[in-house]
Amino acid sequence: MPELPEVETVCRALEKCLPNEQIVEVKVRNPQLRNLIDEEELQSACKDKTILSLRRRAKYIIAELSDSTALLLHLGMTGKFRVVDQGEAFKKHEHVCFELKSGKSWRYEDPRRFGIVKHVALPAPGATPDCLDHMGPEPLLYSFTGSYLKQFTKAKTKPIKNMIMDNNCVVGVGNIYASEALFRSGISPLKPAGTLSLPACKKLVMKIQEVLKEAIEAGGTTISDFATPDGNEGYFFRELAVYGRNDEPCLTCGTHITKKTLAGRSTFYCTKCQKG
Ligand SMILES: [Zn+2]
Repeated sequence: MPELPEVETVCRALEKCLPNEQIVEVKVRNPQLRNLIDEEELQSACKDKTILSLRRRAKYIIAELSDSTALLLHLGMTGKFRVVDQGEAFKKHEHVCFELKSGKSWRYEDPRRFGIVKHVALPAPGATPDCLDHMGPEPLLYSFTGSYLKQFTKAKTKPIKNMIMDNNCVVGVGNIYASEALFRSGISPLKPAGTLSLPACKKLVMKIQEVLKEAIEAGGTTISDFATPDGNEGYFFRELAVYGRNDEPCLTCGTHITKKTLAGRSTFYCTKCQKG
């Protein structure tokens, strides 16, 4: 499932090829994504509009159009974008296609169809759509600090891992990155959130930012191919210390990595290194 670094990478890649493109036609080949697309409505909302910019909020991509509206996009479990020439044959699961005035075709592919392609109003140019208002801070922005995390988790008994994966606390920290950041912080994923000290909160915030930045940087190396027909959409090989490594030796101490299910999600950690 694409997590924040992948979405950021995809967004940056789209940002290189879509701004100033004008949408001339919308083709919906299968309207049933997580939302049900009304082709006529989407067509009339987007036709002749210019794509001004692309930005990310949580795991959503906001493609702002020239009339203070936007396409709100989510990759779900298996969503991918590609920008190809209009003559290019459609792939089986390319469900939505925006034909551009330049002769390019911006396509959304999604075999499992958990993604979202939706037209929304923006409260003002450059703003975030109202439907994303309730979300917590972006993990890579200044508003996400150790003091914020300490304040937010105060008196909370939920395990810290569940807390940092909760969009109300901070957005876009998925299972893999939560596990890796907790390992690097030496904090057990099971620790009740409210019992973390301020220094521990500071360290955890730093490590969350570190793993996300590393992942974005690694993803960034694949961007240049993005606009080609068989382009890479921004996924990358990840070097993981704990995630998916149950029963393998810890890279630091050699103890076998433990796997537990926490809030329905696989959780991997080292019982010796993560005692904090
Ligand atoms: Zn260890």
